[in-house]
Amino acid sequence: MNRSPIGVIILFGPPGAGKGTQARELSKYLGIPHISMGDILRSNITAGNLLGRGVKEILDRGELVPDSAVKDMLQVRLLNADTSQGYILEGFPRTLEQAHWLSMTLTSFSNDLRIVAVAIEMTRSQLVRRIAGRKHCPFCYMTFNIYGNRPQKDGFCDRDMTPLVQRPDDCEEILDKRLDIYDRLTMPVFEHFRAEGVLAKVAGEGPIMSITNEIINCIEARLNAVSKQFGCDTYSP
Ligand code: AMP
Repeated sequence: MNRSPIGVIILFGPPGAGKGTQARELSKYLGIPHISMGDILRSNITAGNLLGRGVKEILDRGELVPDSAVKDMLQVRLLNADTSQGYILEGFPRTLEQAHWLSMTLTSFSNDLRIVAVAIEMTRSQLVRRIAGRKHCPFCYMTFNIYGNRPQKDGFCDRDMTPLVQRPDDCEEILDKRLDIYDRLTMPVFEHFRAEGVLAKVAGEGPIMSITNEIINCIEARLNAVSKQFGCDTYSP
């Protein structure tokens, strides 16, 4: 049975706000893929290919990879057939240039995918605590946190039992730089989506599932509003 496309769910939030964790939960609930720009970059680094070697130091310094490189990598991923009903985009767009490229790309694919942007908000002190407790699996990139999202076996990935590691950019000094970049380059992006009327905000502190439910409510409200506008049935996943 054909179902109507869900759309492109963009998750915004400063480093440590829980975008990856929430994106995974939403992907399970909505049945659409989770595309993480950070994971795409890290998998190139792990593969040791030319692209990965070129970006490793940029990630370690907490700076942004040039727009042209991330756009090219994402374009390849979006050609995959699993994106036809929509996808959850985590960590992209992070600059206005990336946002304009995304809108243009969606228009040119003309497959009726609408954007719903959700910003997860947290204070700096909450982020410092989260980042200090965060570990990830270097094999599948699943993220855990000793504050609230512990692995079943301490120090090991739930999915593949790989020993967990801390990301080189997850330290307080680099966090400051990443937050500064977020304020300067990414805040204008979500102002752009706010002006287009497609941005919702949720608080990022609290139990994972209650934040997920809040995000789902925002997404459903937005998609139902769009369905009404176009005279379609009410949206349900
Ligand atoms: P994340 O896993 O989302 O925290 O991203 C980790 C790092 O990957 C960032 O600090 C940047 O160095 C790089 N990165 C991820 N997404 C982007 C993007 N959209 N544009 C440029 N660099 C990015």
